[in-house]
Amino acid sequence: MGASQPPRQTPTIKENLTIVNKLFHFNSPQEQYRADAAVIWCFDHRFDSAFREFLRQAGVHRMDSIQAAGGAKNLASAERESDREFILEQLRISIRLHATQRVILMVHSDCGAYGGLARFEGDRSAEFEYLSGELQRAAEVVRRAFPSLRIETRIADFEGVWAPELPAELGSACA
Ligand SMILES: [Zn+2]
Repeated sequence: MGASQPPRQTPTIKENLTIVNKLFHFNSPQEQYRADAAVIWCFDHRFDSAFREFLRQAGVHRMDSIQAAGGAKNLASAERESDREFILEQLRISIRLHATQRVILMVHSDCGAYGGLARFEGDRSAEFEYLSGELQRAAEVVRRAFPSLRIETRIADFEGVWAPELPAELGSACA
């Protein structure tokens, strides 16, 4: 056992006197950071690898990840107004704490929050068109709340990640 290996079974006594065992040692950075982007995204794990590759290509290394089922749906067509407010509040906190200037709004194919591809009877282009509209609505909500944020919109499907066109006033989709 190396010298840097902490004793794994040493109990630590917290203020409430609960005894917990440290599971492992890991040095995390203590410095604060500026976020390269806040990313609003669904938690569907099928797209996790594509999502990571997208972030790498988009130069997003320090991300404030705002994950919730449906991703940008929570802004565009939220089930409850409180869902929309929650996401906007997370964005507000990201801007305040990490000087975030860029937000990436994302949705994906076959998202359970939209009723899956079945809702579009398997028609992927109909789904894509609908999701593009959703991203536009989400972008409008963000633009109203945070006029100075740079907004990008992306759709992930089983073949990759796409940049649907956005009206010029909402920001560049191909930034
Ligand atoms: Zn989803």
